[in-house]
Amino acid sequence: MNYRHAFHAGNHADVVKHLVLIYCLAHLKRKPAAFAVLDTHAGPGLYDLHSAEAQRSPEWKHGIGRLWGWAGAPAPIGAYLDAVAAFNDGARRFYPGSPALIAQALRAEDLLIACELHREDAAALRQRFAAAPNVHTHTRDGWEALGALLPPPRGRGLVLIDPPYEQPGELERAARALGPALQRFGNGVFIWWRPFKSGAGLDRADAEAAAQGARDSLRADFWIDAPRRDGKLVGSSVFIVNPPFGLEAALRVALPILADKLAHGAGGWRI
Ligand code: SAM
Repeated sequence: MNYRHAFHAGNHADVVKHLVLIYCLAHLKRKPAAFAVLDTHAGPGLYDLHSAEAQRSPEWKHGIGRLWGWAGAPAPIGAYLDAVAAFNDGARRFYPGSPALIAQALRAEDLLIACELHREDAAALRQRFAAAPNVHTHTRDGWEALGALLPPPRGRGLVLIDPPYEQPGELERAARALGPALQRFGNGVFIWWRPFKSGAGLDRADAEAAAQGARDSLRADFWIDAPRRDGKLVGSSVFIVNPPFGLEAALRVALPILADKLAHGAGGWRI
C-alpha cells in the first residue's frame, strides 16, 4: 500500500467528492431519524497543507486553494466551503478528509464507522476520534467491511466508497462490490468515487453497477484539463446510488462554476 492521500488532499477531485458528501449529509439531517455512515476508505481524517507531503505536489492550490474565503458562493459550494472553514481559524491551513467532514455533520444520535487499512493513517484516524463516542474507527479492509458492517446499526444512511485504485481491477471490484452491499442496504445512499481516466472504462463500470442493482443513480464527471501524458489525475467521476432529491440540480449549479474556477486547460463537466 503506497497511496497516501496527504499528497492529494484538497485537490479538484476532493472538492467535487466532498461537495457531494456535504450535500448528502445535509439531506439526511432533514429528517429527525438517526442515520449512520460507513466510510470504507477513510484516510487519516485531517490534512495539514503545510506538511512536506502537501507541499511536495501542492495539488490543493488548484483545488481548495482557489476557493478559500469565497464569500457569497452559491449554496452547494458555500455549504462545502463553510464545512472546510470550520477546521481553520482563518489560517487556511487544514483540509478535512471525509471522516472529519462526516463527524462534523453528525448529530449525537448519528454514527460514523470509518475503515482505514494503512497502518499510520489508521493510527492517526483512531487517535483523532478516540474521544468521539459516535465515531467508530476500524483498522480494516474497506471491501470486507462492505460485507460485514452493512446494514449499519441505524436503518438509514450513507456509504462512501473511495479506494485509491492502486490495484489493477479495483474499479471493476468496486462495481461488483455494490451488488451485495445494495442487497444489505438497499435504501442507503452510496457515493462511489472514481478517477476519470477512460470514459469507456467508467461506462463499463456503470453498466456493471446497474447489473448489480444500482438502478437509481447519478453520475457526475468533472475535469480540469485534457488527459495528460504523465498520467496526472485531471478528472474525477462520482457515481451516486439513490441520490437525494435536489443533488442533480445542485451539481448543475456547482460544476460549471467549479470548472470555471479550477480548470487550467480544457476543463469541463457532465452529468
Ligand atoms: N476518503 C478519504 C477522503 O475523502 O478524505 C480519502 C481516501 S484515499 C482516496 C484512500 C484511502 O484508502 C487511503 O488512505 C488508503 O490508505 C486506504 N486504503 C487502501 N486500501 C484499503 C483497503 N483495502 N481498505 C481500507 N482502506 C484502504
